[in-house]
Amino acid sequence: MRLTDALAIRSVQVDQPSSAAVARSFDVVGTALSGLCMVHCLSMPGLVVAAPAAASMLGGFHPLLLVLVAAVAGWSFVPAFRRHRDARVLALASLGLSLLTVAAFAFDEGALEMVLSLAGATAMMFAHVRNRALGRAVERPLT
Ligand SMILES: [Zn+2]
Repeated sequence: MRLTDALAIRSVQVDQPSSAAVARSFDVVGTALSGLCMVHCLSMPGLVVAAPAAASMLGGFHPLLLVLVAAVAGWSFVPAFRRHRDARVLALASLGLSLLTVAAFAFDEGALEMVLSLAGATAMMFAHVRNRALGRAVERPLT
């Protein structure tokens, strides 16, 4: 399903069960984005040495990634929370977003930005995985 299709479905069926499925598909996108940042952060030190031009191109990657991560988080955590009401997931996601924001805007590229970004991406990844599991449990209760 393309992103635009997912958005269209969500906007017309906010309270239908399928919107929960769409929210969970955003969890998959969010997890993938976090993984992308991890790969990016871990490959940067090597890239700086091996291909400085490519490294400087990718240096501005975090602010862009942050916008995507924040948007996907809004689409997946807010509708899911209305179902599962687990504030710990929101807290973990907020922590992850805060770390990514500080890393993207408060520091120049360096070890600290990398460490904070990795911590933020890890928190977001766990939050998305937990959010997806909780949403699934609420939608299909054990019988
Ligand atoms: Zn990164």
